[in-house]
Amino acid sequence: MTNEKNILQDSHGRDHGYLRISLIERCNLRCTYCMPEEGVKLSPKSHLMTYEEIYEIAKTFVNHGVTKIRLTGGEPLIRKDIPVILEKLATLPVELSITSNAVIIDKFIDILKANGVKKINVSLDSLDAAKFKHITRRHEFEKVYNNILLLVKEGFIVKVNAVLMKGFNDNEIIDFIHFTKDLPISVRFIEFMPFDGNKWDMSKMVTYAEVMNYVNTSFSKDQIVRLQDAPNDTSKNYKIEGYKGCFAIISSVTNPFCDSCNRLRLTANGQLKNCLFSSTESDLLTTLRAGNTIEPVIQKAVQAKFKIRGGMDTLDKLQQPKLHNNNRSMITIGG
Ligand code: SAM
Repeated sequence: MTNEKNILQDSHGRDHGYLRISLIERCNLRCTYCMPEEGVKLSPKSHLMTYEEIYEIAKTFVNHGVTKIRLTGGEPLIRKDIPVILEKLATLPVELSITSNAVIIDKFIDILKANGVKKINVSLDSLDAAKFKHITRRHEFEKVYNNILLLVKEGFIVKVNAVLMKGFNDNEIIDFIHFTKDLPISVRFIEFMPFDGNKWDMSKMVTYAEVMNYVNTSFSKDQIVRLQDAPNDTSKNYKIEGYKGCFAIISSVTNPFCDSCNRLRLTANGQLKNCLFSSTESDLLTTLRAGNTIEPVIQKAVQAKFKIRGGMDTLDKLQQPKLHNNNRSMITIGG
């Protein structure tokens, strides 16, 4: 029998109130660290959740205590029925947010507002158009940059995610921080993480400590303000005195925040992942389509969650390709 009361609490006492739903495996960018060069094998359309199924599964999670849902992908905004998905999910008592590369987000301002989406995370790994093209394999820098300005102007709460890679964009850390001088955004530097096919190695990663070295050599001690992190926050938050925005570091590799993890992930083909780094998945969609209740599957998956990074609890384990490649590539997980 399913313990109806608290199926979202794991064996380490963590409650999971935050569900990230990937809507699509495809993307309009081709970021090298996110998807393998040769592309990914896409699920047949019939294996992807329909908007009704997304709603049914989300509703079950909300009934059991989920209060935040973030839509991601692939690129969630290239899914044709995104307006209906937003409308359906907006009827649930949750905070609805979205992670996007913002290439086409200017066309969705009204729809996002009408459905109560206030928080938008935008990925931007370089402030230099040529480097942007290099990392995304697409010429869309101007659109993304202008759309960030537009989102701020339209009153959205905007976080800009930059994955740092040594020798590529670590020399832009201070430029990104200056970007927060007149814009009320949070720039979040993300440690490059290993996933299937992304050619990760430790030496390419820029660590939390290294980011802070750049910051400490460019600003004086009394200019750097350590901000209070929110509960369940994945980031260490800072600002420069007098700047409108702030910056943060997401140190999943060198300083994992697993103790306070409250996140679960649903892939576009309806698989529940209890951790970004987990090598196992639980098939909610097949269960739902068979007409069965999905709660026991959810409960089992949550109970099986490892204490740290899908069981890769040391840096040594995380560095072993046979362990971290035993997972999807990020584009099909939904970051
Ligand atoms: N298309 C949307 C976007 O670009 O934000 C949503 C999906 S994308 C997979 C979500 C986030 O995952 C992005 O911020 C991206 O930078 C991050 N990401 C992808 N691969 C990563 C990796 N290997 N290490 C760290 N972050 C990664």
